[in-house]
Amino acid sequence: MRFKFMFACVLALGLPVTHAQTTADGTVREKFVPITVTEVAPGLFFQYHHQESNNAWLVTDDGVLVIDSRQHPKRAEELLAAIRKTTDKPIRYVINTHAHGDHYFGNPVFKREGATFIAHRDTQRMMQAHHGAEMKRRTGYFKQTQFDPAEVRLVLPDVTFDSKLTLHLGGRTVELLYLGAGQNPGDTLVYFPKEKVIFSGGPFSKNSWANPQFTPSLANWVDLLRKVAAMDIDQYLGGHGDIGAKQDVLNEAQMLSDFDAGMRAAVKKGLSREEIFKSAPFEKYKDVRNYYRMNLFINSYYHLLTTGKPEVALPD
Ligand SMILES: [Zn+2]
Repeated sequence: MRFKFMFACVLALGLPVTHAQTTADGTVREKFVPITVTEVAPGLFFQYHHQESNNAWLVTDDGVLVIDSRQHPKRAEELLAAIRKTTDKPIRYVINTHAHGDHYFGNPVFKREGATFIAHRDTQRMMQAHHGAEMKRRTGYFKQTQFDPAEVRLVLPDVTFDSKLTLHLGGRTVELLYLGAGQNPGDTLVYFPKEKVIFSGGPFSKNSWANPQFTPSLANWVDLLRKVAAMDIDQYLGGHGDIGAKQDVLNEAQMLSDFDAGMRAAVKKGLSREEIFKSAPFEKYKDVRNYYRMNLFINSYYHLLTTGKPEVALPD
């Protein structure tokens, strides 16, 4: 059983455009993709919000489990309204897959709803250490949307786990897995074994470059993606992008592996960041979303390769 419906949505990022455009002030506008909610398995819903970030929720007789809480309490209210179109059961759990603001800034709304928050222990540490920087990183977003940053209050996890946590809710089983850091320390994979579905907030986004500012190891990230691709899963739900298949996960692993190899070779040759960027070594992936941010990606990974530390790291 699978159905899809669309919500009338308020466009926050400017007028709809028909293709990616770079405006005079350097902001990139992309093709407008409407927000969709898909029931990927009975009672398991996926909200794909191309312009911002994705969510999923599981509806059971004993309540609802929500994955990620969006980029502002205002957006979390919209998510809650979408959930309320599918159930009136209480929100029992919220899982924050990683410590990026577009995945946890909406927590206060679900706190009010009485949810218990769960995250990996390293996600909690990242949230504590870098919340201020995350807020700053999203100043442009708050301006664009005219959302008040003061409404974002840090709500930390109530429960943390180290390697695996199994939740039983209303006869359904949900496994929270940690396979080491991918894009981020604490990257949580939310696995629905019976439904053959996984939500991987940070490490996987279909057909999209991901920001490597936070990863301590690109090799582990690639390894994680290949492990996940080998699991008994039919639908891969990313933190960004549409629903993926195994091949999409393997494609991202290959792209990151090529990025790793290309960057290592360039650093070994003694090239500067600027020289690497100018030589455009990853141009074959120019049609992958976010390629326009390549300068940032090269800078960040150069930093990791030359200092041994990510630009944004777990506290010691
Ligand atoms: Zn994100």
